[in-house]
Amino acid sequence: MIVIKGVAASPGIAIGKAYVVEDEDIVVERVEIGRSKIKDEVRRFKQAQKATLRDLDAAEQKVLKVLGKQHAKLIDAHRLILKDALITSDVPKRIVTEGVNAEFALSEALELVNRQFEKMDDEFFRERRHDLFDVGKRLLLHLMKRQKRSLAEIDHECVLIVRNLLPSDTLGLKETKILGFATDLGGKTSHTAILAQSLEIPAVVGLSDVSRRIKTGDMVILDGEQGMVIINPSSETVAKYQKVQERTAAEDRSLENLKGLPTVTADGRAFRLEVNLDSLEELKNVIALQADGIGLFRTESLFLNRTEAPGEDEQSKVYSAVVKAMDGREVIIRTADIGGDRLPHIGIEGLKSETNPFMGLRGVRLFLRHLDLFKTQLRAVLRSSLKGKVRVMIPMVSSVGEVLATKRLLDQAQAELAAEGVEFKEDIEFGIMVEIPSAAIQLDAFLPHVDFVSIGTNDLIQYVLAVDRVNEHVTHLYDPYHPAVVRLLDHVVQTAHKRGKWVGVCGEMTSDPRAVPLLVGMGVDAMSVSPRMFLRVKQAIRSLKHESMKRLVAKAVVCAESDEIRRLLEQHQ
Ligand code: PEP
Ligand code: MG
Repeated sequence: MIVIKGVAASPGIAIGKAYVVEDEDIVVERVEIGRSKIKDEVRRFKQAQKATLRDLDAAEQKVLKVLGKQHAKLIDAHRLILKDALITSDVPKRIVTEGVNAEFALSEALELVNRQFEKMDDEFFRERRHDLFDVGKRLLLHLMKRQKRSLAEIDHECVLIVRNLLPSDTLGLKETKILGFATDLGGKTSHTAILAQSLEIPAVVGLSDVSRRIKTGDMVILDGEQGMVIINPSSETVAKYQKVQERTAAEDRSLENLKGLPTVTADGRAFRLEVNLDSLEELKNVIALQADGIGLFRTESLFLNRTEAPGEDEQSKVYSAVVKAMDGREVIIRTADIGGDRLPHIGIEGLKSETNPFMGLRGVRLFLRHLDLFKTQLRAVLRSSLKGKVRVMIPMVSSVGEVLATKRLLDQAQAELAAEGVEFKEDIEFGIMVEIPSAAIQLDAFLPHVDFVSIGTNDLIQYVLAVDRVNEHVTHLYDPYHPAVVRLLDHVVQTAHKRGKWVGVCGEMTSDPRAVPLLVGMGVDAMSVSPRMFLRVKQAIRSLKHESMKRLVAKAVVCAESDEIRRLLEQHQ
């Protein structure tokens, strides 16, 4: 029995056989083909092409089922590549003229095009290389009679072990039978971790070399609470974990009673308790929780796994469906926070190839450079406003200028819609996410221009402490209880309240019942929680006394070290 410690990314326990997805290294050898075999070799290549086309059709069906129509467009792009002259005529030509095997002819042709792509100035075209290689790899695997390991195609119960998982890969796990996943890389508040929580898939990340230490078929226990993986556990350990699973399931069942009850502390202070929505697929679960609203609708999922940005009609349909389903309760639609670890396949100039993407072109910075994308989304949000209570919020704000520029664009979008005779509510509230220290420190200058603020603790912590939220090597420094973080949060809440503006919190700190007493004591107006933790957080708030938590915060903001704050939190329990 071996225990490997990592970072607890998504709660829950998975017990099962490991399925290890290794990085695929394909070595292609040059083989001379005798004149008499050349025709057969060309035929073999054409068969591989047909098999690849069948793969793409099957993948398309899967994507349609799991992710919907818009994401299936990515497959179309791959189909076009497969039909390109590079594949259909250059490769057979090479086989014939050079008298080489199909694998070698294909890899030579790909390499040539790769070099040409690399020289391109246009980022969009340069990045299309990845699609080309994806198709090329599928073809090679068919020629070599090897299987491509697509995560979405895993059809048996298993614990997935993989070096790294991107947010777009994680979305695809929704309809597989994967019980949980463990990765070598990643941090607690990476978007992969957040998606895993939303999809209720237990996950441990940042395990450094777990993908090399575990073999497919090994029995493993993945503990998403403690952040560890146990390889080949003893039968007593398995029994112990099965008991924990049963206990958690029983607790979850008893929490069901809290649905519909108000979120009030034991001494009568009410809080707005809302949920974060990461993709449309989760909407049903979210509605069942009977939350006070959706405090953060992350719209990035509409942009991932596809080659073209979603248009206004498509977006407006999605937003309208969510707003309508919430039946008058608020929905805060956050404009897309693309960039960082959320990179779509859409060709957006300036995106990708950044050495430090979390400091780069992300969120509102990216959209202010691509006003067409930004305005399309704002128009779509406005169009959904008649269906219920919509608020709009922008991510990654670092200066007042960004707020003013966005508001100008919002005005423009409104004027255009009005001129086109499209109806919308003119008075939807506009807010910003406070997740960059400059916005928190200088909040008073932002407040006259906004109706509300929502604190994004995931990013705020990473930027205050200079700790990359996806880097497993600095996870131990990612500390929500750091006195600088606690003080800054309190400063934001008090500053906003002094100026009559309401404050929400929507980062993962709201989903940790141990941290929630601080937010209650600070007197935040709304907390938006990951769906998985919603009822637990409600239970925690209902057991607290607001007045005592205010006193606790008064002590916490003068602590010198996070351990002191942790102790204060433990003592009150
Ligand atoms: C945050 O940064 O806390 C937040 C809610 O935004 P995201 O996690 O989507 O970056
Ligand atoms: Mg953020």
